[in-house]
Amino acid sequence: MGVLRAVCFDLDGTLFDHRGSARAGATRFLESLGIAATESALDSWFAAEDAQFERWRSGQISFQEQRRGRLRTALPSLGCQPPSDGIGLDSLFDGYLASYRASWRVFPGSVSLLRELRGRGYRLGLLTNGSEEQQLNKLTHTGLDGAFDAVCVSERIGFQKPDERAFLTAAHELGVDASDCLFVGDSAAHDIAGARTAGMHGLLVNHSAEEAVGIKTAVLACITAHGDAR
Ligand SMILES: [Mg+2]
Repeated sequence: MGVLRAVCFDLDGTLFDHRGSARAGATRFLESLGIAATESALDSWFAAEDAQFERWRSGQISFQEQRRGRLRTALPSLGCQPPSDGIGLDSLFDGYLASYRASWRVFPGSVSLLRELRGRGYRLGLLTNGSEEQQLNKLTHTGLDGAFDAVCVSERIGFQKPDERAFLTAAHELGVDASDCLFVGDSAAHDIAGARTAGMHGLLVNHSAEEAVGIKTAVLACITAHGDAR
């Protein structure tokens, strides 16, 4: 096993607290529509998000259409009739985005982990499925912009995780062999399986686990286990 030279991260659910941000954003948004943001209302909202995002990820619908689809599927079950036209849906979704963006946050330890890895001389990458504009906005808004040597958003590079070509593109942009790179992500299927197929090492993080130690501790322990030669 070679010495690690680079660490590449997933964004949503790994460095960026997508669920926490989305939960706070959805709560504000639903309440603005007069819907009580109960656990079951939030579950309906996120079930629609997961289903529609997956339809976009697998190429069935456009990014804009998955946003409209989320409103069309989630709101009627919560007793709120969404607008019937695209313009009305887009404008309503803008309202959700404003609430969501106002709630954006990273997980504790994300920023100091990146700083620590940078100090130890690792090349740092980001590989995320999503729209270039939205993912880059998240980095700027949370102070993570400038933390990476390579930022690969699927929309720009043309490959989605778990396609191994997405990981190979990230390694290429980092200037390392895939086998010299540790990939850190929260999805076994999209992040870890894809990374391993591409020849990277993989570390699965789970922020919601009872025994979660935090991303900084988990990544530094993994690097030490690989033999930190720096
Ligand atoms: Mg993720």
